[in-house]
Amino acid sequence: MSEILATDHAAPRHIAIVGSGPSGCFTAQALHRKWPNAEVTVFDRLAVPYGLIRYGVAADHQHTKAITRQFDRSFADGGVRFAGNMEVGTDLGLDQLRQNYDIVVLASGRWRDRALSIPGGKLPGVVVSGDIVNALNAVPRPAIPMPRIGRRVVVVGAGNVALDMVRFLIKTDADYEGSDVASAALQQYLEAPATEITVLSRSPIAAAKADVAMVKELGKIDGVKFSYANTSPATDDNALGRKREEAFAQLAALEVDNPRVRVHFIFGAEPGRIRGTEHVEALHLQAAPAGEPSVLECDTVISAIGFDVNAPGQWHYAQHLDFTPADATGRIEDGLYRVGWLKRGPHGAIPANRADANEVAKEIIADVEADRFHAHEEARGYEGLPERARANAVSFDDWRHIDEAEVRAAEPGRIRHKITDHDTMLATVRAATTK
Ligand SMILES: Cc1cc2nc3c(=O)[nH]c(=O)nc-3n(C[C@H](O)[C@H](O)[C@H](O)COP(=O)(O)OP(=O)(O)OC[C@H]3O[C@@H](n4cnc5c(N)ncnc54)[C@H](O)[C@@H]3O)c2cc1C
Repeated sequence: MSEILATDHAAPRHIAIVGSGPSGCFTAQALHRKWPNAEVTVFDRLAVPYGLIRYGVAADHQHTKAITRQFDRSFADGGVRFAGNMEVGTDLGLDQLRQNYDIVVLASGRWRDRALSIPGGKLPGVVVSGDIVNALNAVPRPAIPMPRIGRRVVVVGAGNVALDMVRFLIKTDADYEGSDVASAALQQYLEAPATEITVLSRSPIAAAKADVAMVKELGKIDGVKFSYANTSPATDDNALGRKREEAFAQLAALEVDNPRVRVHFIFGAEPGRIRGTEHVEALHLQAAPAGEPSVLECDTVISAIGFDVNAPGQWHYAQHLDFTPADATGRIEDGLYRVGWLKRGPHGAIPANRADANEVAKEIIADVEADRFHAHEEARGYEGLPERARANAVSFDDWRHIDEAEVRAAEPGRIRHKITDHDTMLATVRAATTK
């Protein structure tokens, strides 16, 4: 009997994935590989695919962004459909997807900066790293202007996003050769770049979050003098902590004549309050390692202290569902799953999401093979969705028109000039397709 059940299942005919970031795309790939005849559609609220690969990963990390080429192939050969400009919860209801698809996978991510909740944390001059990332990556919906950044900057946090911030603060225009950085946002900063940067890490080096490779990368940037203070050395058995320590020691040992900028890392330091009347004037440390000043005069504080796991508005399409982060299972109910940051919470890089997508795909396959899925005869997949939503959708071929227009508009030294406005993207598609 169990043998009959194991071989008697029907494959899903229609699979919907909400979100075209890495977790959605990896899941689409894995499910398409398993069921090449199923219709797989990846929806995104934006007109362009790839989520934080395009809009979070730093512009000077094009090698990381290049992962999109493998997704391009899945979309281009027709195996997986991209349906951009289709926001679930606004343009389409989750219930409409459930009615028309056998399997629905939610991969809509969650990314909103955690706010710095100390006195003075709302003063002008306090900037969240996300606003800088948005401006440099030209996020369109909504477009966020580049914040004003002064000469004396404190970065709060020492994870990878904080180090993205440090790289941005110390790089020159030439360092963005071959990138797709939003030039206007970059130039605004480079007109009067920071000359003194302090980076605060609550943890000692041994427990700091930044990858060693990210620390080493800083040392390749010319004209920067690095120093650091760390009062709790890593223990002998903490191999990673010791590697990180070594990387910082190498940074600090670099000889630099006439540095244009100084960067000082303080490990084991907690910000206590930000002082200023109309604008940031100083940051007072709650706890400072011996020998370090407890007041840092500055004009800008950039916080990069992780993401708010419960940021409102990220899942307006399914407010009735519980999205508490969970590692164990992607299944929400039969036929409905979640993956990536929406499932695990906003931490971990793209490879972690690849692994998660593969796990959830396996779970889906096992459920289907056990006939535990949401098959219904009347489901029509994409064709069953409201005509109006489909008429406004941006297909993968449409996106290529946006892509081409962006590449054509690239300034010298840049590989593209991203369109910053959602409506302009749609107009670009219309102009190209009604010729
Ligand atoms: C600033 C920053 C820098 C990073 N740098 C790196 C790096 O250098 N290397 C690295 O490996 N990782 C990096 N990461 C981590 C990496 O980006 C994440 O691990 C990964 O993008 C999470 O993937 P995801 O698919 O779960 O979510 P996302 O990438 O956020 O994708 C979610 C997608 O869902 C769409 N969406 C949301 N709501 C809806 C809706 N209602 N309807 C339809 N679509 C919707 C969004 O538009 C988006 O395209 C960085 C992250 C950040 C924030």
